[in-house]
Formats: sequence, structure tokens, C-alpha cells
Amino acid sequence: MSDLSKLVSRLENGAALPGKLYAKTGRAHIVGITGPPGVGKSSLIDRLIEEYRRQKKTVGVIAIDPTSPITGGALLGDRLRMQRHSEDAGVFIRSLATRNHRGGVTDSTPAIVHVLDAAGFDLVIVETVGAGQDEVEVADVADTVVVVLMPELGDAIQQAKSGLMEIADILVINKSDLGATKTARPAIHTSAKTGEGIVELVAAIAAHHKALVKSGDLAKRRARAARAEVIRLLQSRMAESILRALESTRAQKILTDVTQRKLDPFDAVAKLAGEINHGNTSSYRRP
Ligand code: GDP
Repeated sequence: MSDLSKLVSRLENGAALPGKLYAKTGRAHIVGITGPPGVGKSSLIDRLIEEYRRQKKTVGVIAIDPTSPITGGALLGDRLRMQRHSEDAGVFIRSLATRNHRGGVTDSTPAIVHVLDAAGFDLVIVETVGAGQDEVEVADVADTVVVVLMPELGDAIQQAKSGLMEIADILVINKSDLGATKTARPAIHTSAKTGEGIVELVAAIAAHHKALVKSGDLAKRRARAARAEVIRLLQSRMAESILRALESTRAQKILTDVTQRKLDPFDAVAKLAGEINHGNTSSYRRP
């Protein structure tokens, strides 16, 4: 295992960023790739890596796997295909399992993005499955969000309801080898199978980044990302302190009183709030 790989594993297990690393970030273009399962996100990323490498750009990929018994096998197959690039020093790929988290990205995702950014990768791609509300979270991490759909999904408008379209900076209709689709807004038609549209997609991603820099929106997005990251870390920490506080004998007694209807839940919260020691929450371990 490389040092980079080890560091990523430590962050995945909840460690803090190594001191001074964050100061070295901000250079990479962070690209979120999201969409429903099976539209060809992994296959597309495999093609994107190929094209970026042709352009001599280095690529880090964080692929967030929903650990579903239904899609597990298929995902694994396509991950393995992507892994063919892992012998290449200019490519780093890591799959993260989504245990116990609220949305499309894991708690450790932003930190892992920082590590790949600081390591000098030109692009950091974050792949998430967007099938519910959770896909919105990738927009808190990425500079550019690419939403991938496919012809069989039918009317793309249907997807608009899920909030997916709202976060799309670039809309991709993959599997264009299977047929044409009309979309309500401009889309890039790709086929990860034939390679059609990949060069156009890479160009669109670069053009979006250029436009962000020119308009000053990159700084705004990154300010939003920093805020979202800090809020998320705080929420995780507070959730931990709440659970710890509930272990005390006094807290157990309060919960028993609620169970026995001697105390209502609101009064219980008022009493328990005092038990939570915000100052003494667990510190992050620095690797
Ligand atoms: P993901 O779940 O969105 O990451 O989708 P995958 O990349 O795992 O692809 C799902 C399935 O669609 C796999 O069997 C792929 O081989 C296939 N697939 C991906 N892209 C294309 C494409 O452009 N055309 C066709 N015909 N099949 C594709």
C-alpha cells in the first residue's frame, strides 16, 4: 500500500487531516459525477481517465459505493474495470463504502478530496449515486457537477423532481448507442461503450471550470463547500457527544422516566441538554 493509500484509509476511519496539509489544497478541479445506478457512471469515469491521461493530466477518483446487495455485484465489476488504471502513478482510485451516513457522500469524503488535491492530482472526481435527495450533497464538495442519465430513463423531466437537475452544471445522456433522447435542456450525449462524446465531455468540464474562475463563482462555491464541511464535522461530533451523554446514569434515569410517562420528551431534552458537554467532545486523531 502506498503512503497515499494508507493516509486515505486513516481518514476513512475518522482521523483528522495531517497538520499543514490543508494549506496545500485548492489547486485541483473537483468534479462530482452523479446519477441513478446503472446509467454508466463508472464506465464513463473509466473513459474520462483515459482521455485525461492522454492529455497528460493526473486524476484521483473517489467512488462512493452504496453497499446494496442488489447493485453490489454490478458495481464491483465496473469498479474492477476502472481499476485497470491503478497501475498508473498518475491515477488514484478509492472506493468508499457508505456505512452509516446521511447522504451521497461520506463524512470523510471532503478530507479525502483535500488529500488528493494536496497530492497534486489535476482532477479529483467524486462519484456518487444520486437516486434520492442525497445527491445534493455532492454539490457541496464539487466545483463542477456532472449529472449522468441514460435514454431508458425516459423523460428527463422526471428526474427534475428529485433535485438532480438543479445541481447539474453539465447534463450527460450516456448510452447514446442505445438510442436518442430529447431533453429539456442541452445535454452531452456520450457512450462509454463506443467512446462517443468523451472528448466533448472533457472539454465541457474544462470550460465550466474556466467560466467559474472567470466569473468569481469558484471562490463562492468553495466558500460554500468549506462551510458545509465544517458544519458536517460539527454535526458528527455533536451527535457523538449526545450518544455519549446518554450513557450516563442520570441520562438513563431520564430516559426511563420518559418510558414510564413520568416525564415528557420535551422536558427530557431540557434536562439532557445540560448533560452534553460540548467542550469535551472527542478530538480528532491526527495521523
Ligand atoms: P453506474 O452504476 O452508473 O456506475 O453504471 P456502470 O458503469 O456500472 O454501468 C452499468 C451497465 O451499463 C454496465 O453493464 C455497463 O457495461 C453498461 N454501460 C455503461 N455505459 C454504457 C454505454 O454507453 N452503452 C451501453 N450500451 N452500455 C453501457
